[in-house]
Amino acid sequence: MKAEALSRKTGHVGAVAFSRTGDPATSDFGEPGLSLDVIPIATQLARLAMLELLADKSSTLNVLKRDFDAPWYLWLNRPEPGTQYADMPPLSESRDELTINRWYGIYFERDEQCPVCGDFLSGLAAAYGLDATQLPALPEKE
Ligand SMILES: [Zn+2]
Repeated sequence: MKAEALSRKTGHVGAVAFSRTGDPATSDFGEPGLSLDVIPIATQLARLAMLELLADKSSTLNVLKRDFDAPWYLWLNRPEPGTQYADMPPLSESRDELTINRWYGIYFERDEQCPVCGDFLSGLAAAYGLDATQLPALPEKE
């Protein structure tokens, strides 16, 4: 069974990388070991979700709040040629520089006009000189 079919059948994305029986380099996929790049991100998201769910509960995991308090995280899986990350130092030679395979919390001020959590319509109206009370309402969540 091809890995993609196995992944579809089982519903496990990880099945893609770990079900290879043929040439592990290129036979089915253009990106060998793609799940090795996806799994750290999925794990980080699961961790952040879990910490959010435990936010107001007593848990030994509350000590992690200080480590995962950034609004954004950056993860680089490779120093892709032609990008601003191409000249990053090798992971083995770096302590303080930006490298692959490390999480970086990115802090920035909240966008008061964020379309998700802010007052988007007022910001939009102000930017275009419109009367916010005349704008149509945004669609509601179902
Ligand atoms: Zn927001």
